[in-house]
Parts: sequence; structure tokens; C-alpha cells
Amino acid sequence: MTIPYITFNPGIASQKPSNTDTCPFCIQDNLGAILEEKNDMIWVENKFPTLEETYQTLVIESDDHFGDMSNYSQQKRRDLLAFMLEKWVELEKRRDFQSVVLYRNFGPLSGGSLRHPHSQIVGFKTIDAYANLQKAYFEGLIVCSETEDQAEISISNKPMLDFTEFTIRISTPAKLPLLADALGFLCAYLLTDFLNGACHSYNLFFFRQDQGLVCKLLPRFVVSPYMIGYGIHQVNQFERLDVIRKEIQARLSKANNR
Ligand SMILES: [Zn+2]
Repeated sequence: MTIPYITFNPGIASQKPSNTDTCPFCIQDNLGAILEEKNDMIWVENKFPTLEETYQTLVIESDDHFGDMSNYSQQKRRDLLAFMLEKWVELEKRRDFQSVVLYRNFGPLSGGSLRHPHSQIVGFKTIDAYANLQKAYFEGLIVCSETEDQAEISISNKPMLDFTEFTIRISTPAKLPLLADALGFLCAYLLTDFLNGACHSYNLFFFRQDQGLVCKLLPRFVVSPYMIGYGIHQVNQFERLDVIRKEIQARLSKANNR
């Protein structure tokens, strides 16, 4: 296993705006290089590319500063996922990169610096970002199986990090609207009922697997010293996973019966 390292440029990082400044994605008069616009979505180059040997771009998702996967309309979420996927594929086709990643931060513990909803599409010139992923990260307890009307949702029993992680899977990109629906449902659950509302941050990571697509939804908390110091993952007891599974299933059937 090769451990990837990527060099961070502190000079660029120090110029980055924060949530205490005026929001640059609301004002939009100085976004930098705009790559494409569609409705209120804008694909732009990251004005503060802090990572060397990469090409960092952003999708500004909405003109609503407080928009999120958990509160967009169904149509908005579907349009957004289609736009994000299209741009991800576009960067991959350029063949300038060893790998291209699509991910998203939300909340103070997610690693994001701005509240305004945006996703990241980043090309790595020297790193295969997918090289060290384990197959087991994507397996787990099935909450619901994929059908014509829904994506598969599962809860990891071998998380990438610690405790509870969700995996949404579709067998073909044609089912992207179903992935978007499941994502909205799960993000809303995560920020409300999950752990009685104690979770305020999450990451989304997108992966291509076989002919389909997988999205990992990771609730974020302070990372434990076991993980940092020793790479030891803490996992839930089966009983706890099963409680979460039933909680989501009950919420799902309520949503489907509406
Ligand atoms: Zn804003």
C-alpha cells in the first residue's frame, strides 16, 4: 500500500475567505474563472487552490446561502446531482489527471470553510485517490434494496472512519434521480432524528463501482485518538446498527406513504 501525501500551500490558504467575511458565493462579483453555469448552479475554478499538483474546482449549488441536500426540493436535488456528475465525467475525460474526485462538505466538523452550499471536483495529477479504498467500506446492513423506484441504502459495518456511515448505491447512472432522492432523505434524517439531532456535520463522497454509482454519507464528529494514533476504527454493536436500520425504515415508509 502506498500512502499518498499531498502538499498544502499555506500562502494561498491564508487568503481564503471565512464565514465571518461577506459570502463570496452570494455576492458573485469576483468568483474567478467560471467554467459553466446552469440555472443557479455555477461550476468554477477554486480561487484558492491550496493543494499542489491538483486542479481544484467547485460547484456552487444554489443561490440560497442556506441551501443543503437536506432542504432542496426534489427537482433541485436531481438537477444538481446530474450537473455534478456531468462535470465530474468532463474532468475525467480530460485525461490530465490520474484520478478525479467528487465530494462535499457540510458543517463545522466536515472540513469545509464556507457555509454557502458547494461541492468539490478535484483532479489529482500524481495520485490515484481510489488506490487505498477497501471493498468492505461499501458493504453493510441493507436498509432497503434497489428497485425501480429506490436506490439501495445500507449501513456500513466496516466504516471508513468510525461508527455509523451510510452507503447509497445505484446499479446504473440512469437511476441518478433515485440516488438524489435517497441522499436528500438521508441527509435530512442525519441532521434531525439521527442521534437525537446531535449531528451537525457530514461529508459526501462519490465513487464509481462496476457500471453504477455509490455515494458514502459520513456523519462527522471529532475524530477519536484511537483512529488518529493507531488507525483503530470504533464500530457499533449489531443491536445498535439494527435500531438505526429500523429507524430509517420507519421514516422511509412514512415518506413513501405521503
Ligand atoms: Zn452565500
